[in-house]
Amino acid sequence: MLKEVTLGGVIAILLFLLIQGYNIFPALLIGGVFVFLYNFANFKSGGYDFKLVSTAKSDLNTDNNLISFEEIGGQQAAINELKEALDFIKKSKLVDSLGIRPLKGIMLFGPPGTGKTLLAKAAANYTDSAFVAASGSEFIEMYAGVGAQRVRQLFAKARNLALSNNKKSSIIFIDEIEVLGGKRGQNVGHMEYDQTINQLLVEMDGLATDDKVRILVIAATNRIDMLDPALLRPGRFDRLVRVDLPDKEGRLQILKIHTKNKPLSKNVSLEKIAQETFGFSGAHLESVANEAAIFALREQKQQIEEKHFKEAIDKVMLGEKLDKRPNAEEMYRVAVHEIGHALISEWIRPESVSTITVSPRGQALGYMRQTPQDDMYLYTKDIIEGDIAVCLGGMVSEQVILRNTSTGAMGDLKEAIKLAYQIIEAGMSVLGIVDLDNFPKDQMQSVAMDIINKKQNEVYYYLIQRKDLIVSLAKTLIKDEVMSGEKLRETIADYKVVDQLDLFNDQSA
Ligand code: ATP
Repeated sequence: MLKEVTLGGVIAILLFLLIQGYNIFPALLIGGVFVFLYNFANFKSGGYDFKLVSTAKSDLNTDNNLISFEEIGGQQAAINELKEALDFIKKSKLVDSLGIRPLKGIMLFGPPGTGKTLLAKAAANYTDSAFVAASGSEFIEMYAGVGAQRVRQLFAKARNLALSNNKKSSIIFIDEIEVLGGKRGQNVGHMEYDQTINQLLVEMDGLATDDKVRILVIAATNRIDMLDPALLRPGRFDRLVRVDLPDKEGRLQILKIHTKNKPLSKNVSLEKIAQETFGFSGAHLESVANEAAIFALREQKQQIEEKHFKEAIDKVMLGEKLDKRPNAEEMYRVAVHEIGHALISEWIRPESVSTITVSPRGQALGYMRQTPQDDMYLYTKDIIEGDIAVCLGGMVSEQVILRNTSTGAMGDLKEAIKLAYQIIEAGMSVLGIVDLDNFPKDQMQSVAMDIINKKQNEVYYYLIQRKDLIVSLAKTLIKDEVMSGEKLRETIADYKVVDQLDLFNDQSA
């Protein structure tokens, strides 16, 4: 307030002098220099604020940043490892009596959105510590020395916060540590990064058991390969905790956590949603639950239904529905293409199609979504060949019905080629085990093309026997925009496959 009044007064005086005919520019220049120096000094001497969260009991009800390990789903292994490390703080007397050196740093690493920040917050809660959070990018500035200064401030704030809340320990959480802790010497001409990481190492080396406040640094990264090895040395971040994408059971737990406060219709099976969301992180699943509730709200429903979840999964996977509508001819092509994928998917693995749609979303004009049977981490040759066939189903369906293909299949082809190379690289092709570095590229390419051509022929013969089925399914799909896997399977079951003679006639036509 005082600032605003002073500023108003100064402007009024300057205007008065200007009207009186005085030259006010020297005064403006000097004033400007003062303001700059004042701000710069302030900026360098602690004007920067980190996120501070105290876990003081009085805050517990008001601060929703505080969470417990029970509210984190699908990360039991990481939680167990973390808890074991945190017991160094909880049982500090025993640790001291055994002469164990204090644990200074824990590194959480894994894909984005898997709950690393949540784990750090829960760690502060579990150990009844003060909590200070910062992100690697907050340390990097244009001015040399600012990053190092901020590291010092961060440690000082962690200590002060614990003292003012009568805590014995403080947890400093540094997200995206790879930004500040990348390998030293990589940033040519930018000593700022190196100074910052050096300062962090100095602060961590200085932590001791007899400190009034015990400080534990928890860092998180998606790129552990980029970190300076000095950070991972014993006595620094020497506990590495992997925070992976959740498996099916984990996804179910996370969905349960994020739907706890949401009214679900009886037809919603969280198990089924967990099954359909292979590869989703905790953040994706939180978003699915939230988007499903928004879809229910749009339809003025009191409860969230299965279709809302299906739509939410599509949105999270592929992006928002787009208003653009292809013309009738293109729409027919898209429908034929997607039905082709779906028929092959059901052929290769019955019950595998979840939804087919022709409403544009993200980059796609239409899409067919499969339901994974189970989480899979290893793939046999048969499985990969099946996936290649599904990729080719769209293009071949266009070929069979429209007698030509389109650029819409480019993404599918790339994927099919990638899969064919996987077969070769894993030693599952006719080449047997190959030394990838020394094997002639053209020979490898010819084997990859053989794999793809063989699959293309099989898909062609399967689809050409079902021409009428593709046409009628495509028309229904255009009319309804969406088709469920169940509806597709019912129609397939009622269809009588064209016999071999008709097929022969068709080919010769
Ligand atoms: P990043 O690497 O991008 O910083 P992160 O691993 O730190 O991500 P968080 O910020 O912890 O991820 O998670 C983001 C949000 O996703 C959380 O606020 C929460 O809603 C949800 N979430 C992520 N993982 C889980 C989980 N294991 N259990 C419950 N919710 C989760």
